Amino acid sequence: MKDNSYIADRIKTISATLPKGVTLIAVSKYHPTEAIMEAYNAGQRDFGESKAQDLVIKHQELPSDIQWHFIGHLQSNKIKYIAPFIHLIHSIDSLRLLQEVNKQGAKIGRCIPCLLQIHIAQEETKFGFTPAECMAMLEEGTWQTLEHIEIRGLMCMASNTDDRQQIASEFSTVQNLFKEIKELHFPNDDNFAVLSAGMSDDYPIAIEYGSTHIRVGSSIFIE
Ligand SMILES: *Cc1c(COP(=O)(O)O)cnc(C)c1O
Repeated sequence: MKDNSYIADRIKTISATLPKGVTLIAVSKYHPTEAIMEAYNAGQRDFGESKAQDLVIKHQELPSDIQWHFIGHLQSNKIKYIAPFIHLIHSIDSLRLLQEVNKQGAKIGRCIPCLLQIHIAQEETKFGFTPAECMAMLEEGTWQTLEHIEIRGLMCMASNTDDRQQIASEFSTVQNLFKEIKELHFPNDDNFAVLSAGMSDDYPIAIEYGSTHIRVGSSIFIE
């Protein structure tokens, strides 16, 4: 059997360096249940997946106190499979998708926590609202009529680059957007408090710019 004990060490090492109030999400996409159990047994409870099908299987096979985060591009026709148990959907990138999540939430009588994904990176391949699109969507107001979703904050991915200045400037932009949106649309809503930013290569920078949830995959699961 493969020795997975390095995974527990990584969880402990990373967790020990995090400031209070920052949640580590272990991104377990592509990794088998045995690897996830190694992290679980080290105390890890928040896990992230990017494919609905994989998530459904892992949710069935693994302990029920795991908090599952959906971080990938979400297709409307897959929402119903994860709606009953998903802890937080990080990747809302259109009002239409938010409405679809709301519809599935209504069917099962659940209010589903969501983040708005902000496109901030230079790469065209990444999904999300531009800051202007996000502001326009919130100003338009339809989201306020959706009773089965709750917007908890923002998510972003920085550019895939070695230029630390560039990465810092992108995280800073999203931090400022978060503050602006909080002030304008959620001033009295304590649940609007999540800034999901930072991955294996850039999470220390993200934390400097207010990240509350870091999504770390390869630094935990790749030996
Ligand atoms: C895969 C993935 C991560 C984790 O990336 P690592 O570089 O392996 O830490 C974080 N966020 C999203 C949206 C991802 O798809």
